[in-house]
Formats: sequence, C-alpha cells, structure tokens
Amino acid sequence: MSQSRFKIYSHTAIEPDTWAEIDLMQIRENLLAIRNYLPASTKLMAVVKANAYGHGDVQTAKEAALAGADYLAVAFIEEAIRLRHAGLTLPILILTPIRPELTPLALEYDLMLTVTQASWFQEMRAYKPIHTKHKLQVHLKMDTGLGRIGIRTRQDWQELVPWLLAPDILVDGFYTHFATAGHADTSYLEQQIQRFQDMKRWSSELPMPINHYHCAGSVAALRFPELSMDMVRIGAAMYGFYPKQHKQSLELKPAMSLHSRLLQTKRVNKGDYIGYDNAYQAQTEQWIGTVPIGYADGWTQRMQLTDVLVGGCRAKVIGKISMDQLMVQLPAYVPPGEKVTLIGGAGEESISIQELAEHIGSVPQEISSSITNRVTRTYKRSGGKTNERIPSKASAL
Ligand SMILES: *Cc1c(COP(=O)(O)O)cnc(C)c1O
Repeated sequence: MSQSRFKIYSHTAIEPDTWAEIDLMQIRENLLAIRNYLPASTKLMAVVKANAYGHGDVQTAKEAALAGADYLAVAFIEEAIRLRHAGLTLPILILTPIRPELTPLALEYDLMLTVTQASWFQEMRAYKPIHTKHKLQVHLKMDTGLGRIGIRTRQDWQELVPWLLAPDILVDGFYTHFATAGHADTSYLEQQIQRFQDMKRWSSELPMPINHYHCAGSVAALRFPELSMDMVRIGAAMYGFYPKQHKQSLELKPAMSLHSRLLQTKRVNKGDYIGYDNAYQAQTEQWIGTVPIGYADGWTQRMQLTDVLVGGCRAKVIGKISMDQLMVQLPAYVPPGEKVTLIGGAGEESISIQELAEHIGSVPQEISSSITNRVTRTYKRSGGKTNERIPSKASAL
C-alpha cells in the first residue's frame, strides 16, 4: 500500500519538485521537553496515528521510542500492524474499537484494544476462545462529554463488568478524552473531569487493579499537568503544535516544513485572468509564478489567499488552487527553479503552520495530516542542542 508507493518515489533518482522535510531531532527535543515537564511517574504515550500526523509513522515512532516514549497509539489496526512490521516493540493502543472478528490479529500482533461496550465482548467471543494462553489487553473508553465513543452510563458499565472478569482479559487502561481542553472557560472541562472521577469509582469495584488511568491529550497535559494521571497521550505537541495562547515555559517547535520550486514565471497584463473560473483578475501588470502543488497534495482550496515564501519574500496564492498547481503573485521577477516554502522559514521570513490553520479555521494537525502520499517526505536531524541522552528504551527498537 502506501509504503510501497513511497518506496518507488524514494528509490528513483528523481528529485521531487515538492517535498516535506521532517526534522526528527525536533520531534525528539519536543518529546524530551514534554517528558521533563510532566510528573516523573507519568507514562508517555506517543500518538502516531494518521501517518504520525503526516510526519511518517515508522520514522516518528522510532524517534519516539528513542526519546523514551512508553506506549504508542494509533487510530486503526492497520496502522498498528504497519508499526509492528517495521520492528516497533513498544505497547500499542488502538484508539478506535476494532471489529470483533479482527481480534485474532490483535493477539497475533500484541496490540491493545479500546473497548466501549459489552456487545463487543459478546461478539468477540466467537473469534477468541477463552482458554488460549494469550490474554487480550484492553483499555476501556469512557465518554465523559466528547460525545464520540465510550461508555456513558452506569448501566452500560455494569453490562460490561462480567466480560472483564474472564481469565483471558487484562484491563490495562481506563480512559476518556476532553472536548474543550484548550478553552479559556474551563467549566465544561471540569464537568468532564468530575464525570471521569465518578466513573473511576465504578472501576474500583472490579476485583483487579487497572494499570493506567489516563485522560489528557497534548493540551490538557501541558496546560494542566495535574491531569496527567498514569499516562498522557501526546500527539500534537510532539510535532510542535501547541496553541500559542497557552504557551508556557516549555518550548515546542514544529518538526515539519514544506517546500516546492517555481515551475514558471510570467508577466501578465492588466485584466488577465488566472486559474479556473477566472477567480483572479490582474488589476495591474504583474509577475505571476506557478508552483507544482495542489489539492491532490493536500493543499486544499481553502489555502487560497495564504502566502508562500519565494526568494525570502511573501507571495500571495491567487486564483483557485487546482489539483496539481497553484499560482502566486510575485513581488518581482523570480527565475523558475527558485525554492518556494509553503510551511517553515526562508531567510528572515517564515510561515507557520499555525498561521495557515487560522486562515482555514482549523488546527495545524489538519494541515500536516492532509499532506498526501504524493509529497515525498525527507528526513533530517538538525542536531544542535539535544544532548544524546538516549534512554534505555533505545533497545526497544
Ligand atoms: C488523537 C488523540 C489523541 C492525541 O491528541 P493530541 O491533541 O494530538 O495530543 C489523544 N487521545 C485520543 C483519544 C485521540 O484520538
């Protein structure tokens, strides 16, 4: 699948016109900074779903393991199996329930499952005999107010309990996810926390202890370290995405930049149209550049009127973004072949993924995870201030 396609790109001698550059050292520095910020007893689960938010799942997971992550998390079972095939041995939690018939695969690959209802166990039993030597490891997901997946009522919980007592089930975790961790008004967050505390009390009625209670993603964990509990699930912050209104002592920097090259430069006349549907009309004579990236690369049409950097200057994306190309208004003539930066710095200027996210009314991770397979990922290690303190987890590779 995507892996083989990526190989074809990277094994040919063709240098791509458009590429995303991932600084693995930055991912490591972010993780080490987060680790140091959190209580020492809190475990760190590195969330590498969606191709590690576009950064490359295997490369990121290996880097996270080197930086001392205790767990990995993905959304779907296929993502977890890819990591196992790549040699990752850390515990992996699948955050979305899998279909019961895939349970044998979860056992084969030693994956932890998210469970949200009794009926799942009932159906799962058709595929897993009770008396096999392998325990099925599960994390129970509580819906405390996000309204997405999870147990909501005491009755749902009570229906689940008998299934948890089976000798081949190991309840490794009990968790929830917040809807408004970044909001200035924390009242809904407090409601969810209260709800989770109540549900934790239900769980204490079980005859066995549960190893990990966890509720915090990046924003909750870094804004309120007291919510860290036994484990935090860190995605966005590891990639350097963190809402600037909550900036505190720890310094996180984005690990991804995105670049292309000018394909063509032309002088257009006053009144000339640019792009589909004549969406842009030149009001004066001007220089227009064409860049070979479009919505099929994940650069959505919502990016119209954002800036790119060409020759160290900002240039506006004008007209409609098409599937493979977009046009920019250049401040002056720039020769074809010149580097274009869509995310990141060039010279004095820089374009942050946060700025782009604000333009499209979304979050940085929507942009990074939307960058498609057609864009080659290149990896570098900027080095610098990281001390090579590689925890013993390195052996986990
Ligand atoms: C994606 C996800 C996370 C990671 O959230 P970030 O805000 O990116 O840190 C944590 N928990 C769950 C349940 C998720 O789906």
